Amino acid sequence: MRVAVVGGGIAGLAAARRLEVIASDAEVLLVERDPVLGGKLRTEHVDGFVIEAAPDSFLSRKERGVGLCEELGLRDELVGRRPEHHRTFVRMGDELHPLPEGLTGMIPTSLEALEETELLSPGGKARFAAEIDVPARRGPADESIGAFVSRRFGREAYEGLVEPLMTGIYGGDGDKLSLQATFPQLRVLELEHGSLLRGLSAPAASELPPFVSLRDGMGMFVDALRDSFERTQLLTGREAIRVLPGDDGYRVELAAGETYAADGVVVATPAYVTAELLADLDPELAAEHLAIPYASSVVVTLAFSRADVVPLDGYGYLVPRSAGRDVLACTWSSQKWENRAPDDCVLLRVYAGRFGGRDLTEDADADLVALAREELAFLNVVAAPILERVQRWPWGMPQYLVGHPARLARIDDALAAHPGLALAGAAYDGVGIPDCIRSGELAAESVVRAVTGARA
Ligand SMILES: Cc1cc2nc3c(=O)[nH]c(=O)nc-3n(C[C@H](O)[C@H](O)[C@H](O)COP(=O)(O)OP(=O)(O)OC[C@H]3O[C@@H](n4cnc5c(N)ncnc54)[C@H](O)[C@@H]3O)c2cc1C
Repeated sequence: MRVAVVGGGIAGLAAARRLEVIASDAEVLLVERDPVLGGKLRTEHVDGFVIEAAPDSFLSRKERGVGLCEELGLRDELVGRRPEHHRTFVRMGDELHPLPEGLTGMIPTSLEALEETELLSPGGKARFAAEIDVPARRGPADESIGAFVSRRFGREAYEGLVEPLMTGIYGGDGDKLSLQATFPQLRVLELEHGSLLRGLSAPAASELPPFVSLRDGMGMFVDALRDSFERTQLLTGREAIRVLPGDDGYRVELAAGETYAADGVVVATPAYVTAELLADLDPELAAEHLAIPYASSVVVTLAFSRADVVPLDGYGYLVPRSAGRDVLACTWSSQKWENRAPDDCVLLRVYAGRFGGRDLTEDADADLVALAREELAFLNVVAAPILERVQRWPWGMPQYLVGHPARLARIDDALAAHPGLALAGAAYDGVGIPDCIRSGELAAESVVRAVTGARA
């Protein structure tokens, strides 16, 4: 069985590995446009600093992140956040206010902890607590996260608490993002319990902390996947341009004019690339992909001498959309994780660029560093950085707008006409690393099922 995987991000890598594990006769060709594997997972080690280009951690409760780490022998390399600086703040004007304790996902479950926060006015707190009496809305229609949270808890709670947390994940606009595609469990709680406050319970105790990273950074994941391959041929620095029907399966055309014949194909590229790859094979399937919008963002990482800054007693802070700023969040990486900077230094990263806002990815490095430094100046971090890194992510984060689940259903229907073709990656059913791994593995399984089924 010959299978081509297009895209060597975490989804494509997970697909290739799964193919090797479940199909002992599979010969896999993985085509990656960049010279290196990993897509958004990229770690740089320099002068004792560990610099993440995009993700710095993943959720442990979503099975396939930790699960794949264990299979790759990385269990002992998993690390949790440093417990001594466990607070996260929200920036309101020039002040930082801690997020209330007892958040379950994005929703505070402890009304007592909420009582102490200055993020909500007394009226906002009263409206939040009144959620328990807000009748459940019937009907299956999708709605935005903003509409749902405002309807249940009041607009103030949405803008002050939920929106900054949600934006930190999607870089998106909660008034446009689909509840069904992002936090469907919240709607289930509303329908099952009549109220989220009644239905939410503290997460079950787990051996692992809720967010985990890898001791030397997320790049370890990519290295371990690459090292695990036995029957996967890696074609890095090569761009796929088309997936076409073949005599007995598919043909994958590469930019250099080569063509690779395969029984099955996993396409694990961003949706707008997938649209181009599939344009000849199935124009409607391509059009569905082209309609998935993306947010662009930048990550500016700066290091300072510890003597020059008063470190924050926390992991960092979030900036609400209502503040009208480009910056979404600032992470004090060396407070959040062990071994991210030499002891006499601090490492910070500023995450900027909102969906629907200004595209920062075309700004010059110097302007982006200036933007980050201007952001940090309110905390009196004004010394010259000893290290600067700018990472641009144009069209980096898919936006699951209201109606996304219906689009996925249409994509699934269209795929039925192409046995042996499967899609994976952040564009579909979750942007987090464990979601992308799962999508890659499911895609691999569906290709193997189709190819072995056709042979039987
Ligand atoms: C700034 C930022 C911070 C994030 N933080 C977190 C976090 O802390 N935790 C978390 O869980 N998630 C986080 N995410 C989300 C997560 O990193 C991504 O959703 C996930 O890594 C996407 O994986 P993927 O394999 O679907 O896509 P990608 O990583 O985009 O991989 C797709 C690959 O396809 C390749 N490609 C594109 N076109 C072609 C072509 N024509 N031919 C061949 N190859 C091609 C690309 O070069 C790329 O390597 C973050 C994302 C961003 C942008």
